[in-house]
Amino acid sequence: MKVWPLQFRKLDENDFLFSDDAGAFFRSSEAFLTRYVENQLSESDSAFLRRGGHAFDDIGDPAFVGFASRWTQRINSATPLGYVILVPTLRCNLMCDYCQVSRAAETAKGFDWDETKLAQVLALLDRQSTAEIKIEFQGGEPLLRLDLLEAVRTFCRRKFAISEFVVCTNLQDVSEDAWRFLEAEDTFVSTSFDGTSKLHQTQRTKTATAHEQFNANLDAALHRIGPARVSALPTLDPSDPPEPTDVIAAFAARGFGSIFLRRVNYQGFARKKYGLDRSHQEWTDYYRRFVRALISHNATAENTIEEYYLSHTLRRILQGGHHNHVDLRNPNWLGVDYLVVDFDGRLYPTDEARMVSRVGQIDLSIGSLNAGLDKERISLFNLHASNFDDPDCVHCVYKPYCGLDLIDDLSRYGRIDIPSHQTEHCRSHMDLFDFAFELLYSDDPNVHKSIASWLQVARYSPMLAQRHS
Ligand code: SF4
Repeated sequence: MKVWPLQFRKLDENDFLFSDDAGAFFRSSEAFLTRYVENQLSESDSAFLRRGGHAFDDIGDPAFVGFASRWTQRINSATPLGYVILVPTLRCNLMCDYCQVSRAAETAKGFDWDETKLAQVLALLDRQSTAEIKIEFQGGEPLLRLDLLEAVRTFCRRKFAISEFVVCTNLQDVSEDAWRFLEAEDTFVSTSFDGTSKLHQTQRTKTATAHEQFNANLDAALHRIGPARVSALPTLDPSDPPEPTDVIAAFAARGFGSIFLRRVNYQGFARKKYGLDRSHQEWTDYYRRFVRALISHNATAENTIEEYYLSHTLRRILQGGHHNHVDLRNPNWLGVDYLVVDFDGRLYPTDEARMVSRVGQIDLSIGSLNAGLDKERISLFNLHASNFDDPDCVHCVYKPYCGLDLIDDLSRYGRIDIPSHQTEHCRSHMDLFDFAFELLYSDDPNVHKSIASWLQVARYSPMLAQRHS
């Protein structure tokens, strides 16, 4: 019998977590670790490793093929362009404290696509051979240029067999024409709601009148479009976050089933205001407190609520696949399936890359509408797209579920050769995975109820998370 390489991490006084490269995992003791390292496995060890798919006898036997299949499912293969973020205008009618995109004033000139840029965007979309496309309209405030949104949507509906549109709007001023645009079945609204009404006013809407207007528009969006097509994201300052129960109550009262908890990300303009990110531990503690409060809420609630990134992480651990989040996938190809087109026609691999470039910190553009994609730059980015050969990640028990975030490293450190374990991306994901596995092995029925609802399965049993003595 041959055992696939196992990575391990000490969890507590008694137990270690083990995982293989295809993502199967179990808990066991230091005694097992010693037997594994010294090649002194007992019969019971061998039987357990066979049962869990961690071993095989011959290349090509069912256990080998099963492992290969699970491994493949965890790999994000490079697919054609299918997600495009468009920034038709940088102008905005709000001035939020931590706006990351150095927005332009509502009345400013020269910050919108002109006719030529619109034609170039449509030509770029026309060159794609994929049958499916998702367009996300960002800003500034994209509803200030409803005409450009209409032109893109009309074109995509004709060109692609399946198309979906997300409008990232502050919902401050929504005309009747804009409501009609947003009400279409293929169109989704993504807005910001900073956890509690009071905090939202402090950080975003500022005046009582503007705040009332936002509240009325958020209620109208939920009423006219429905919570299934409206999402609201809170952005929080880790040094002064709101009480988790207050945030959960505010989201529950509006019928939201998902909260994507984000801290101010200290990129672009936000870094100018908030300085370097020194909030790691504060945020980790808050995040854990928040999820615990969510689990208590879900214990008695008819409509449960998820924290989006934790659910996504659990799905990656237990199910593999789920490559649709650019902050967590492996390899994390840049400039391939995902593209950002800025108001000035520059192309970026992610929205974060756009923000970092906008403030002049480092130019992460990968071409322009005029010159096309810069293939050489894209290849350079993608030299370090996967964690397979990262000297830290190769030994990490969380490698099958994790990925690298080059843009975050460049944004924070201006370089990509910082040892992974010293990066904020690694530290925060290490904490997140530790917490996820703590929940997966929990004996608390309330935790099981929440996990089942987050994974959208009928029941979660911690027996799924294996133990070996
Ligand atoms: S980035 Fe950190 S947590 Fe992720 S696989 Fe690498 S070492 Fe592990």
